[in-house]
Amino acid sequence: MPAAPLPPNESVRLQSLADYQIVDSLPEQEYDDIVGIAARICRTPIALVSLIDADRQWFKARVGVDVAQTDRSAAFCAHAILHQDEVLAVRDATQDPRFLDNPLVTGAPHIRFYAGSPLVTPQGIALGTLCVIDSIPRELSGEQLMSLKALGRQTTSLIELRGRTNQLEKYRSELERSNEALQEFAYAASHDLKQPIRGIGSLTEFFVEDYGDQLDDSAKEKLELIRRLTDRAQTMIDQMLYYARVGSVVDRLQPVDLNEVVDQVKENLFALIASGQVTIQSRQLPSVSGEPVLLNELFQNLISNGIKYNDNESKTVEVGFQTKRIGDEDEPVTAFFVADNGIGIPKRMRPEVFTIFRRLHAADAYGGGSGAGLTIARKIVETHGGRIWIDPAYQGGTCFWFTIGSSAAGIENEFRHDNIRSERDVCHAIGI
Ligand code: ADP
Repeated sequence: MPAAPLPPNESVRLQSLADYQIVDSLPEQEYDDIVGIAARICRTPIALVSLIDADRQWFKARVGVDVAQTDRSAAFCAHAILHQDEVLAVRDATQDPRFLDNPLVTGAPHIRFYAGSPLVTPQGIALGTLCVIDSIPRELSGEQLMSLKALGRQTTSLIELRGRTNQLEKYRSELERSNEALQEFAYAASHDLKQPIRGIGSLTEFFVEDYGDQLDDSAKEKLELIRRLTDRAQTMIDQMLYYARVGSVVDRLQPVDLNEVVDQVKENLFALIASGQVTIQSRQLPSVSGEPVLLNELFQNLISNGIKYNDNESKTVEVGFQTKRIGDEDEPVTAFFVADNGIGIPKRMRPEVFTIFRRLHAADAYGGGSGAGLTIARKIVETHGGRIWIDPAYQGGTCFWFTIGSSAAGIENEFRHDNIRSERDVCHAIGI
């Protein structure tokens, strides 16, 4: 029995088959449906999705056959893939010199009729076939042949989809790895910078202590500037360390009552709140699945910014949410907002405020700050699978929206503070 010769592109073909990671995969309903339909349309007891591996043919889906694979040397499909543009049809294998002494012809399943449509990838590589088999000699009608080819194309599309999904998964995990490496680098770099900067700070202090009386005013002023700059560098490094430490939260998720988070933030901000006429209006908020310490940091950043960047005599920060069904999504999406009556952020500057260490004002204006708060806020939201954005239609201050656990495309366009005005009646002002 002559085994089928190897295709000229055999090594590329085997590599391509390996890349799809389909051989030895678990059964899948879609492929099972295809062989079921092929057997019914062609009226054969056997139909297979057969993939030709180095020394075996392996069945991704099968009806009428118990075994999961056979030797490649006995595979009809190994012949079929040699002519990838046509269906290999064998009316009676006992009459065909290629197959008459084939063990699958002389023994079970006693193949007589075979028709195999090659599964050819967009790169022109035949991975196997969709084939139908019978134990009596016969032929396919023109319609059956067309259907077999069409089902073969569907099978190829399924395999191709699998290839793309594998590729995406590969990119995703590479991206995750490189992000982790970058995070580790940022952490190590900022950690190592901490010591020398602390050293400069201490040395400056010792210098003033030891030689202060020999310095003129201009020298003292310059030393004071060095001290302030070192302080700022230290704050920035601390923020970078914090930023780098906001890692994955998947194994730390727990139900978090956001009302408790807001109450805690109010306690933390007591001094800031007491220093002016500040009201934080907070609606009864739902619980979310999250990491409580990080969510606390998120609300604290947004609420404190609403008070800080606010020239109004009576400062108000409003915390609320809206729940909406978006498009055909089954699950409604909840977005939270923190809105203030402060100085607002000019439209053209809005994309910049999420960049680390970017401030829109002089270093010590509005109580100072490192410019890392919103970058950290965004990272917290994103590690919770959400998005954060600024309401473009909000007037008279700034309104940040964010979601926790949903980041559907276009979600930013679905929520506007304007649309929840009527619901504001249920907000209750909580005086501090
Ligand atoms: P920081 O407050 O430490 O400077 P952030 O990252 O929190 O850093 O904010 C970045 C910049 O965005 C701020 O310096 C400020 O100019 C602007 N900003 C942030 N929040 C508000 C707000 N609620 N209203 C107006 N401007 C804001």
